[in-house]
Amino acid sequence: MSAVTHRVVIVGAGFAGLAAAHGLAGANAAITIIDQRNHHLFQPLLYQVGTATLATSEIAWPIRHLLRRRSEVTTLLGVVTGVDTTTRVVSLEDGAAVPYDTLVLATGARHAYFGHDEWEPYAPGLKTLEDATAIRRRVLLSFEQAERESDPTKRTAFLTFVVVGGGPTGVELAGAIAELAHVNLPTEFRHIDTRKSRVVLIEAGRRILPSFDEDLSSYAHEALVRLGVDVQVGAAVRECNAEGVVYGDQTLPAKVILWAAGVRASAAAAWAGIPTDGAGRAKVESDLTAPGRPEIFVIGDTATINAWHGKPVPGIAPAAKQQGLHVAATIKARLAGDAAIRPFAYKHSGNLATIGKRAAIIDFGWIKFRGWLAWWIWGLAHIYFLIGVRNRLAVALSWLWIYVTGSRSAYLITQAEHRPKAVPQGSST
Ligand SMILES: Cc1cc2nc3c(=O)[nH]c(=O)nc-3n(C[C@H](O)[C@H](O)[C@H](O)COP(=O)(O)OP(=O)(O)OC[C@H]3O[C@@H](n4cnc5c(N)ncnc54)[C@H](O)[C@@H]3O)c2cc1C
Repeated sequence: MSAVTHRVVIVGAGFAGLAAAHGLAGANAAITIIDQRNHHLFQPLLYQVGTATLATSEIAWPIRHLLRRRSEVTTLLGVVTGVDTTTRVVSLEDGAAVPYDTLVLATGARHAYFGHDEWEPYAPGLKTLEDATAIRRRVLLSFEQAERESDPTKRTAFLTFVVVGGGPTGVELAGAIAELAHVNLPTEFRHIDTRKSRVVLIEAGRRILPSFDEDLSSYAHEALVRLGVDVQVGAAVRECNAEGVVYGDQTLPAKVILWAAGVRASAAAAWAGIPTDGAGRAKVESDLTAPGRPEIFVIGDTATINAWHGKPVPGIAPAAKQQGLHVAATIKARLAGDAAIRPFAYKHSGNLATIGKRAAIIDFGWIKFRGWLAWWIWGLAHIYFLIGVRNRLAVALSWLWIYVTGSRSAYLITQAEHRPKAVPQGSST
């Protein structure tokens, strides 16, 4: 066996970066994977941490531990801030420099506010574990403040929860908060009836879940209404502030506003001087390389490519994983002396979304499901894709417990702002 000389640096250990690292097993290369967090996160279940269903440790795993058996892989905790494409070095925030021969950029995306970043403090989005625990704190704190509030108008505002964006995340958040308020919490408070909480889902488009067929989208709409969610479509949000939200021609006082609309790619394209689309995603070549830079790959949510029968590849976990594995196969082929261009083609296996704990919609293309059967398929699919037997068992048990008893165990208000007294009544939580 020849000495290992080729250095592959992967930036980002999300679905795309981790799949690339896994796919490179057995390659004659020294691999360095760099992430700003020490954990890989299963974002599809993040909303369940935000709504007190699951604990953080059930949906995240230390990257170092996941790669512990790969002696050729070095895991670094650090924030990448740039790439020198001439000297082929990745630079970190702390001044460190990591040289590469092949670079894989897989730094994902974050929520975006359509040019209104000033709304973020009032309408946080959901992307990281910190976001999820901050949302959980806001939601639970609002019930606590309502319990202590004697002014009925202010109490109503504390019990009004607004979710902006009718995609899968918005639908899942709204459904879960409605169940929390209407099913799980009523017996736990003495001065408020949490069943009187109002959960409003605001979507600017004509219908929720536009990536699904019209019939599944209408089913989801009706299922949300049955859960007690007030679904407002065709109304764009014009303002978010400490007092509430302005949408269409309405002003709605609300102390909890959650943002599930809009996405912006990481800065990876700018680091490597790659042209982008309107959402900041790197426009890559057919083989996922940067234009004119065959040694740089950009994959997952931070790239855009029309590789789904000529349509853009969706920003979902299976697409990111497929890209990671594709790039790993290309790198391995190159190391074996095969420099042929290998175009990426996305294979879509289906769309899934859940509405509370008894209904879901699934579109596999060749067959569609909705209702409780879809919910079970959704649940099994998510358990299957979690990493490790322990997490699969823990999540399955948490769901079973909630399903049978209606009681959630993750009602924890953590981090700052945890004392209701510290938050002046009438101010934003
Ligand atoms: C709330 C939510 C729910 C979702 N639900 C679903 C779902 O149900 N089904 C589905 O298929 N998809 C879902 N998605 C989308 C899916 O999670 C993404 O498409 C997928 O995570 C993209 O993978 P990625 O590897 O490109 O990015 P990510 O998984 O986001 O990983 C990017 C990694 O890069 C790291 N990183 C970023 N910047 C830097 C930097 N400067 N330096 C070092 N490291 C950095 C991050 O810490 C992160 O670990 C959901 C997303 C969200 C936010």
